[in-house]
Amino acid sequence: MSELYSNPAEPTQRRGICFVLSAPSGAGKSTIANALRASQKNLFPSISVTTRLPRPGEIDGVHYHFITKEQFNHQADSGELLEWATVFDKGYGTPKAPVEQQLAEGKDLIFDIDWQGQRQIKAALPDDVVSIFILPPSLEELEKRLTNRASDHADEIQKRMRAALNEIEHWEEFDYVVINNKLDDAIMQIEAILTAERLKTKRQNFLHSFTHSFTL
Ligand code: 5GP
Repeated sequence: MSELYSNPAEPTQRRGICFVLSAPSGAGKSTIANALRASQKNLFPSISVTTRLPRPGEIDGVHYHFITKEQFNHQADSGELLEWATVFDKGYGTPKAPVEQQLAEGKDLIFDIDWQGQRQIKAALPDDVVSIFILPPSLEELEKRLTNRASDHADEIQKRMRAALNEIEHWEEFDYVVINNKLDDAIMQIEAILTAERLKTKRQNFLHSFTHSFTL
């Protein structure tokens, strides 16, 4: 069968898409992102730089590129970052070169960045970015989820709760909103968004050469 009919979820002749996932801490974003990476062949994580220290189990170059404040400032000043922000007093940013290269190769990317990053990346790549905001089912449930994280102390939970409320304020800036009431449903809904966006007419430019070959 012609490549024309290849699965839209696999690398194709089309340009890659930047899927941005944002959520307050405790909404289940990491679990959802991991599930999507496992179920989707053509979905690669964008690896951010950060000035924060690695947590146990985090690998340099896999979870983040861990860099110094000086390196971060240099990268931000010299335009090497597509977007960057300060979160919990630490610098976070998306290196530009790998994103450009992978999009050109037809690879879809997933970004786990905050609302500040989504705003900048959308302005930088308006045709390539599709942004999804994940909401917890309720504030009570969010507080419960944050409290259940054994590693966080009471003042840390309060700090994260305030940050979560600040993040939630920006939900309307996103293309899609998914409420993570039941994990499987949220994953299914996001997979539906990925499929629909991949099938958008504007992303099928490569079909021109095919349809133009028809003689009426
Ligand atoms: P964590 O330190 O828990 O891995 O991430 C803290 C926050 O920083 C999360 O909300 C995450 O989405 C955000 N973040 C991670 N990488 C980036 C990035 O490259 N840019 C921006 N703007 N935010 C990021």
